[in-house]
Amino acid sequence: MNGTLIPNTPFAVDFWQIRKCSHVRLFFLSHLHSDHTSGLSSTWNRSIYCSPITAKLLQWKFQVEETLIHPLEVGESHLLYLDEVGKETMTVTLIDSNHCPGSVMFLFDGYFGTILYTADFRYTPTMFCNSPLSTEKRIDVLYLDNTNCDPESVVPSRQEATEQIKEIINSHPEHNVVIGLYNLGKESLLIELALAFKTWVVVSPRRLQMFQLLRLSDVFTSEVGAGRIHVVDQNEINRFNMIRWNQTCPTIAIVPTSRRMKVTHRDIHVVPYSDHSSFQELQEFVARLKPYSIMPIVKGKACQAYFSQYLSSRDELKSIQIPETVEKCMKKNSKHHDALPHQFFKPRTLDIPRGVVFEPPEKGLHDCNGADYLCTEELSWCYASLKSFDAVVEQYFKKRNKLIVRNTLD
Ligand SMILES: [Zn+2]
Repeated sequence: MNGTLIPNTPFAVDFWQIRKCSHVRLFFLSHLHSDHTSGLSSTWNRSIYCSPITAKLLQWKFQVEETLIHPLEVGESHLLYLDEVGKETMTVTLIDSNHCPGSVMFLFDGYFGTILYTADFRYTPTMFCNSPLSTEKRIDVLYLDNTNCDPESVVPSRQEATEQIKEIINSHPEHNVVIGLYNLGKESLLIELALAFKTWVVVSPRRLQMFQLLRLSDVFTSEVGAGRIHVVDQNEINRFNMIRWNQTCPTIAIVPTSRRMKVTHRDIHVVPYSDHSSFQELQEFVARLKPYSIMPIVKGKACQAYFSQYLSSRDELKSIQIPETVEKCMKKNSKHHDALPHQFFKPRTLDIPRGVVFEPPEKGLHDCNGADYLCTEELSWCYASLKSFDAVVEQYFKKRNKLIVRNTLD
């Protein structure tokens, strides 16, 4: 699950566990992949902010009440209230993240500083052309899609990967081609294959419905046998099905993914086609942005060492003062505000993390670039369960007693 409660604010991105975020007022959805929608259902009853395409898909897939969905135009800045009295505002700008239909990054600007939440994205230099990212303004915290943040991983461009797939299909002229995909994404690959091999692409009726909603090119059909290329869910690509399909017609399977996958049949071809930035692209992206700090979005994948050279430094830590009206609102929205520790809502100065903050597989407080921090999840837990920060620290020290902890909440 990839979602984050943004510390010291009343908003969250791709986070839908309502019991853990009763203080949250604004919910943002980056795109409709299942690892970013865990917890969403037709019974969701809070406002959701997303791109217009995601808004359409959200209603279609989850039947979320239409009045709760707030589509925001991509590329424009939108002013949103952070409290209930209309005093404190922030701006949010949606930026196309080049990942799947409707996917966006969020650029937040408010009392908390400037935060860029990339969610899942595939970097392209055009992201800096006439875009909010091209300004000189520094990002205080960059939440970065670190899916492919590994110098060892080989992630070619999508065009190169597409050529690899075409070569595989060309070398199997008598075969049917089964392509394993998730529910959304890689549509442009399918269209390119349909045009290159002059065939319909056969998909399930439900996927076809979604493609019609997205107004994609007319190369898809749900009529079985109408074309040579078939799309199935990725988890259907297995040895059992390969044997079954080959009993009817010679069949190869292609799985376009940069994730590691166990190949269980000689006719399964895994091609590193990725909708996430390659390691080199991540480096270029961070080098151009020069943020003050980085938080990885995929939990448990440390990436701190790779970007420290690109970070901007400050003479002193920037302080955050949660505005009174926002704090009141967060407290009011919290179901268990009576149980809140005093220090949680007392006016205070908070530090923006300095340096790269990362989350190794082990939860807890981590030493990075000379500073120790609670990982986001711990902070979220602290917010959500409304246990005092001291309790979090105490529990942590029961597990590990070597680190020197710097309390970042007070
Ligand atoms: Zn995704």
